[in-house]
Amino acid sequence: MGKESVAIVGAGTAGLIAARGTASSGMATTVYDQKRIPGDGIHASGILSLTGLETLGIDYTRAITNTLKGANLHAAGKTMKIRSKDPVAVVLDRKRLNELCMENAEKAGARIEVGRRMTGREIDHLSRRSIIVGADGSVSTVASHFGMGAIRSYSITYKQEYNVDVPEPDVVDLFFDNRSWPGLFAWLCPNAKDLVEVGVGTTAHSVNSKRVLEKFLGMKEVSDRIGNGKPVSGGASIIPMSRRKSIVDPKREVLLVGDAAGQIKATTGGGIIFGSNAALMAADVIREHVRSGMDLSVYEKRFMAKYGTEMKLHSMTNRFYSSMSPKSIGRIIGMSKAMGMEGFLGKYGDMDRPSLVIKRFFLRRLA
Ligand SMILES: Cc1cc2nc3c(=O)[nH]c(=O)nc-3n(C[C@H](O)[C@H](O)[C@H](O)COP(=O)(O)OP(=O)(O)OC[C@H]3O[C@@H](n4cnc5c(N)ncnc54)[C@H](O)[C@@H]3O)c2cc1C
Repeated sequence: MGKESVAIVGAGTAGLIAARGTASSGMATTVYDQKRIPGDGIHASGILSLTGLETLGIDYTRAITNTLKGANLHAAGKTMKIRSKDPVAVVLDRKRLNELCMENAEKAGARIEVGRRMTGREIDHLSRRSIIVGADGSVSTVASHFGMGAIRSYSITYKQEYNVDVPEPDVVDLFFDNRSWPGLFAWLCPNAKDLVEVGVGTTAHSVNSKRVLEKFLGMKEVSDRIGNGKPVSGGASIIPMSRRKSIVDPKREVLLVGDAAGQIKATTGGGIIFGSNAALMAADVIREHVRSGMDLSVYEKRFMAKYGTEMKLHSMTNRFYSSMSPKSIGRIIGMSKAMGMEGFLGKYGDMDRPSLVIKRFFLRRLA
């Protein structure tokens, strides 16, 4: 007889959404998290597209702290201003989001064991009777225990929040400067009308991310915004910038979801929409595997069919801007503005699906 229970390591958004899916199909599901309060002390942001959030089946409105209508992209003194008529994204309280996902998973019948750091040995033991889902973040014990390959590229990040009034509370600012923070960008995000988040991300691992943030805080645009404000919270974290080589081991019945699988948009480091959708797919495939013997490798095929092209386009865009000097990015901003890209992206931009933006661009040119 095959395995009929599911053990999920990690109670972040991806693990809890997978748990909701497997438990609601009637499978005995247990989620293990090392933290006493999963979601506590996350040093990550929560900017998510409204179109992406609608796919997750969460009442995310209960976690919204702000709505966003646009972005300013800055490089070498040039700025591109993208604005939409209506809100396109929201900022979510990440701890609240985790609580909502946990509520849903428990309502569906999943059991959540907190304060349990799972070792390779314990996971091995569980795998004798349960299908294993590794949702344990980018430094995944499940992935390394089952030899599922490495994530080749990471960004290190540091962010801090300040209680200050925000002049444009529905606009996020991104600063590209490959000399100061190569590989990603620095940002100012209005998490609420009176709370601004200041952060940096870089793939240069030899630097101290807090020092990089201090450099960003020293920029006039930033110091003018913060004034004498004192940080109210903050900390360092990492973002996987590439996909893990293997995200499923069908023989040993192990699947990876979320950051553990590297399901991230390399342009922004956003991982919740892709990782949570992958978790929903993983839960569906597990159900079909248990009921009718479907091969678990279908999970990877379905994920790649839906997100493979988007992930590649995000990576290509990241490689493109990461290879350029700030001056060259500034020039591209100037050219894009001259071509009317501000208006185009304001109307037709999509944070998650670059392929859709490209299609819309060519369709408009043809028209
Ligand atoms: C600075 C920063 C900003 C970001 N901004 C955004 C954004 O605006 N939008 C967006 O979509 N994404 C953003 N992200 C990415 C987003 O935070 C991640 O993609 C998301 O948290 C991944 O969720 P997850 O459930 O896969 O993993 P995680 O949230 O990392 O959860 C993993 C869980 O596993 C637990 N765990 C780990 N190891 C073990 C073990 N051995 N045993 C038991 N439990 C274990 C951990 O305690 C944790 O609760 C940002 C990330 C950073 C760092």
